[in-house]
Amino acid sequence: MQLFSKRKMWHKRPLKDSYDVVIIGAGVHGLSTAYYLAKHGITNVALLDRGYLGGGGSGRTTAILRSNYLTPQGTPFFSESLGIYETLSQELGFNLLFNQMGRLDLGHTESAVFGLRMRTEFNRALGVDSTLVGPEQIKKLAPAIDLRAGKDLPILAAMHHPPSGVIRHDAVVWGLARAVDEGGAEIHTRTEVLGINRSGDQVTGVRTNLGDVRAGVVVNATAGWCSTVAAMVDVLLPITTHPLQAFVTEPLKPFLDVSVSSANLHVYVYQTDRGEVVIGGGVDPYPTYSQGSTLPAAEELAKHALGLFPCLRDVNILRQWTGLCDMTPDYSPIMGEVPGVRGFLVTCGWGTWGFKAAPVAGKRMAELIATGKMPEQIAPFSITRFAEGRLVNERAAAPAGAIH
Ligand SMILES: Cc1cc2nc3c(=O)[nH]c(=O)nc-3n(C[C@H](O)[C@H](O)[C@H](O)COP(=O)(O)OP(=O)(O)OC[C@H]3O[C@@H](n4cnc5c(N)ncnc54)[C@H](O)[C@@H]3O)c2cc1C
Repeated sequence: MQLFSKRKMWHKRPLKDSYDVVIIGAGVHGLSTAYYLAKHGITNVALLDRGYLGGGGSGRTTAILRSNYLTPQGTPFFSESLGIYETLSQELGFNLLFNQMGRLDLGHTESAVFGLRMRTEFNRALGVDSTLVGPEQIKKLAPAIDLRAGKDLPILAAMHHPPSGVIRHDAVVWGLARAVDEGGAEIHTRTEVLGINRSGDQVTGVRTNLGDVRAGVVVNATAGWCSTVAAMVDVLLPITTHPLQAFVTEPLKPFLDVSVSSANLHVYVYQTDRGEVVIGGGVDPYPTYSQGSTLPAAEELAKHALGLFPCLRDVNILRQWTGLCDMTPDYSPIMGEVPGVRGFLVTCGWGTWGFKAAPVAGKRMAELIATGKMPEQIAPFSITRFAEGRLVNERAAAPAGAIH
């Protein structure tokens, strides 16, 4: 019996000098866009990444998927994405280890509970499964939690969102890469885009460390670095890049089978299938391209996690890491064409929330490229919203607020 397939997940091919579409960035968003382009019959596509496959935010994410957002634009969008993730393992023929453990968003103050109640009602009105639960139910769902009765910031209530879960991020990247490769598109790692060529206002291709490549459509899917790529066509994105840190502990026996997030305590906690406890929070407060991890962030996260789970007190941290997040002013993504530069599309502003959105974002970006028409699901996220004052404010639904 053959236990391991010798089939390559994707192949190295020579870089051609012309494609219909060039996607800069082979993270989950670039891959998803290429995957759905093939469904429209567009396969003369190159994904170019200056690093290794999924080496950006997609390899550093804590991969929580959920759709309990706040706005009428964001909630259905993330809900569609979660729905696609639910069957993506079967579709790709690759186990993505999606564990739909559910999620608790904790409220420790009256105003936080008011916000959670509002989000819960909005979710339910839009068909998303969320309920407001009290301390007794919270304790049932997460027996190890300290309800903090009589302490500062006691747990008063939580928004319970059962369809939420955690997926294996590298499996998603590899599964998509295999499907993209089989579909006919090419993945070129260690291929850095150094400039974007134009003729008048039309994009004509990219300049790379391996030479020039022609393309009528160039997609910027570079997340933390998207501003540097947009600058190649003189576009200033309303985005700042911030580091986001997380760590895992040594593996423990299973004690927690729901993910828990607290905006008041600036922390989220869940246990992986391997037993490790993943602990993360909000972005570092300063913009930088550094991906170095810091001791103050580890200390803050550990302190906040212990505020919820004192039982973790003597547990060792196994590893800590950092990724870059492309933060927008309204905590929503930017997708679609950029006025004034024909053929240049962006799918960025994915901040701390982008992994969960990749299936639907790729699907709709591919539809836009194939049909030339902006799909209604992503129209609210166009870059013009900033000039037009149509912000899609998802800040309240962002994970675990800024750390400091
Ligand atoms: C610690 C952490 C935890 C997170 N947790 C969650 C979570 O729980 N749930 C969630 O939904 N999201 C989460 N996120 C956010 C999520 O990981 C990102 O939004 C998502 O992975 C972005 O994917 P992407 O494909 O757009 O970009 P990336 O995966 O960052 O890929 C961009 C690629 O562009 C390449 N690139 C950059 N410049 C160039 C160039 N000039 N030429 C060629 N290639 C270039 C890079 O090498 C990189 O591989 C988290 C992020 C971090 C850092």
